[in-house]
Parts: sequence; structure tokens; C-alpha cells
Amino acid sequence: MTVRVIDGHVHLGTGWNGTEASNSKMLAAELRKRGVEKAVAMTLRGLMPNCDVAEENNILKELADQEPEMYVPFCTVNPHQGEEAVSELRRAVKELGMRGLKLHPWLQAFSITHPNLENILEEAVRLRIPIIFHDGTPPYSTPLQICDLAERYPDATIILGHSGLKDLWKNAINCAARCDNVHLCICGTPFKGIKQMVEDIGPERMIFGSDAGFSDPSLIDFRVGQILRLNIDEEEKERILSLNIARILGL
Ligand SMILES: [Zn+2]
Repeated sequence: MTVRVIDGHVHLGTGWNGTEASNSKMLAAELRKRGVEKAVAMTLRGLMPNCDVAEENNILKELADQEPEMYVPFCTVNPHQGEEAVSELRRAVKELGMRGLKLHPWLQAFSITHPNLENILEEAVRLRIPIIFHDGTPPYSTPLQICDLAERYPDATIILGHSGLKDLWKNAINCAARCDNVHLCICGTPFKGIKQMVEDIGPERMIFGSDAGFSDPSLIDFRVGQILRLNIDEEEKERILSLNIARILGL
């Protein structure tokens, strides 16, 4: 069967450790070759604590614009930057046309209790954009920490970018069970965890993601194959592979 695939988690631009990462056109070709029709694109270098966030958002927008049919860019902001973070979020959404916000507590080195996070979340709710959090890596990025925030902001659409990864996927399930506004991007989540998420949370709040641009795009075939092997009906598979993120983003 041909199923629509929208990748909810890819990265564009220079790597977080300074290595040359994905070329926008090359990555789009790799994605297309594997049946991906659109991809949520996020920065890597823009998540480093000492970077020029606005400049990195501009770069991401330029890279995404090289393949506008493929990429749906998400901006980032750094909560340590106070009011500037809130105005940068507004600028990135209103002027650059970014469709969501990526936050990475682990790389950006902020706690989920950072007071400025409240202003950022309130602005994201006003702008009606989803927030994707990196998760799965203690000490700053555990699903249950993010869950506390999701509980306090029921109007915010929150995506766990990795659904707990290998060690914390059970916590990601707990989080989604507690908060209706939490969605699970199964990017790096083990297959056992994915199956449990289908059972406990259901395919309505699960989103396919590959981390391509950071990880090897050839893993996409394998990961799409995992979803196609799930014991659910075809429409439910399509929800995970594209329809859920399409609905959130109005694609
Ligand atoms: Zn990622």
C-alpha cells in the first residue's frame, strides 16, 4: 500500500557539534526517495546555548525555503534570554512563517521550571503553534518534567520529540495518559514502546519522526516498516505516519 508519510522530526543545517550536517536539497531528495512528502524541520546549531538564536532561525528559514514543498520549519528560542525569547518567537512565527516551536532543555541548558518558560508557552498558545520538546535525556529533558508543564498549560499543544527514547518511554506513556494535550513523536522510541503506546494511548496522538539530518535517513524505511507492521488498521497507521501531524499543523 502507498501511505502518506509526513516526518514530524528532521534537522537542517550545521550540526550541534559544528560538523557539516544536512544539505537542504540533498536531504529533501533522500526523504522523497523514501516516500516522505513533508517534514517538520528544526535547527541543530540553533539549540546551542551560545548561538545567535535569531540568526539561526533565519538560516533555518532560508534552508527550508530551498524546498518549500518539503519542509515545515519550526523555530527555536532560548528561555535564558528573557523577553527577547518571547519577541523572537513572535518574529519567527509572524515574519518568517515558522509553524511551531522546538525547545531542547538538555542542550539549551534550562530547567522546565525556568520562570521565562511560562511567558514563552503563553505566547505559543496565543500564536496557536505546537511546541515540540526534546525529551528522553535526564536531567533536564524527562517526559515527566515536561508533563508538569503540559498539565499547567492544557491549551498548549505539546509534542514529546522522542517519546522517552530507550530508557523513559514508559514515562512518556504516563505523561500522555495524564495530559490530553501531549502527543508522542516516536522518534528513537523502541518498537516495544511504540506497541505499548498504541495500546495505552492509541494512534490518535502518535506522530512519526525520524531525526533525519541528525541521524541517517536510510533508517526511515526501517521505521516506517515498524508502523506498517503494527497490529492496527490501515487508517490508524496513516494517522501515525501523517494525518495526526497534518491535523496539528493544518497541512
Ligand atoms: Zn532531533
